[in-house]
Amino acid sequence: RFKALVIDKTGEAQSVQVRTVDRSEMMAGDTLVRVTHSTINYKDGLAITGRSPVVRRFPLVPGIDFAGVIEETTDPRYAPGDAVILNGWGVGETHWGAYAELARVPADWLIPLPTAFTPAQAMAIGTAGYTAMLAVMALERHGLTPAQGAAIVTGAAGGVGSVAVALLAKLGWRVIASTGRAEESEYLKSLGAAEILDRAALSSPGRPLGKERWTAGVDSVGSHILVNVLSQTKAEGAIAACGLAAGMDLPGTVAPFILRGVSLLGIDSVTVPRERRIAAWERLGADLSLGTLATMTTTIGFDDIVPTAHRIVEGGVRGRVVVEIG
Ligand code: NAP
Repeated sequence: RFKALVIDKTGEAQSVQVRTVDRSEMMAGDTLVRVTHSTINYKDGLAITGRSPVVRRFPLVPGIDFAGVIEETTDPRYAPGDAVILNGWGVGETHWGAYAELARVPADWLIPLPTAFTPAQAMAIGTAGYTAMLAVMALERHGLTPAQGAAIVTGAAGGVGSVAVALLAKLGWRVIASTGRAEESEYLKSLGAAEILDRAALSSPGRPLGKERWTAGVDSVGSHILVNVLSQTKAEGAIAACGLAAGMDLPGTVAPFILRGVSLLGIDSVTVPRERRIAAWERLGADLSLGTLATMTTTIGFDDIVPTAHRIVEGGVRGRVVVEIG
């Protein structure tokens, strides 16, 4: 038996509790992992608070990311004792996830712990940081370079945002960090931001085309902010969209696309094939400073998961959170 955070539903009401679970209750999978570390992403906040229908089966152990050590496996690529990580694949949504001492999953969803990182550092990056890397790689695939202009990051003090600021700055971009938290300006500059832009300047409906201010961007908030970011993107620039912290809607016009050749690049981290995951993690090893990662990371224990999940959906978490599970 082992300790797990379990979400259940009776009628319309969702409940969350820490309880002891029997191994026989676990879902199918060829590999059993002893989880040592996890993290809290915005999606985990949505799952635990029930604010959006992220959880699609009950009872469910939430947590979309884990690092741990293999206990049992029938997959020839792995052996007991191997250090592994998992990001996404519906874990913490439809398959039992990370907030438990044990996880049983298909080995296909695992990748070896990247050699550049400890398990705690890999979870300090987590889905949020890995998604920021996927966004940067999408901008690069589009052919954009720092010589062509600045890069904007929205939701900059959040998880995806903090890692995106650090990565883009290290890669030579002049980073404009958009935040609703003026008190985090010094923090954002310490990650490499050159300029702080008040979120309010982008939050209201604007003109279809504005002054051209940046060439590239990583947006984790959506809605009017993404529309305004697109309307102020330089000709032939691109914005990678990966989140909805401000809203799922996109209340804009096609003007930036058809009058400036601006591109909107979609990022979905959940089902990226294994080889591209490994490539993104290798890039993180090369392009993310461990010192900078440490400055954006807070560590919490198992009992802090639920309160932190509530805080993240209120926009109250700065940077990244590591959860010590083991
Ligand atoms: P997070 O740490 O909470 O960051 C979100 C940030 O957005 C907040 O820190 C805040 O930044 C800003 N924000 C929050 N509420 C806002 C509002 N009402 N209006 C405008 N800005 C607001 O969350 P995260 O884990 O980084 O995730 C960020 C987003 O990316 C989420 O929507 C998440 O679901 C999405 N995501 C998507 C993928 C994918 O595969 N596509 C992967 C990971 C995450 P400031 O305080 O600096 O303004």
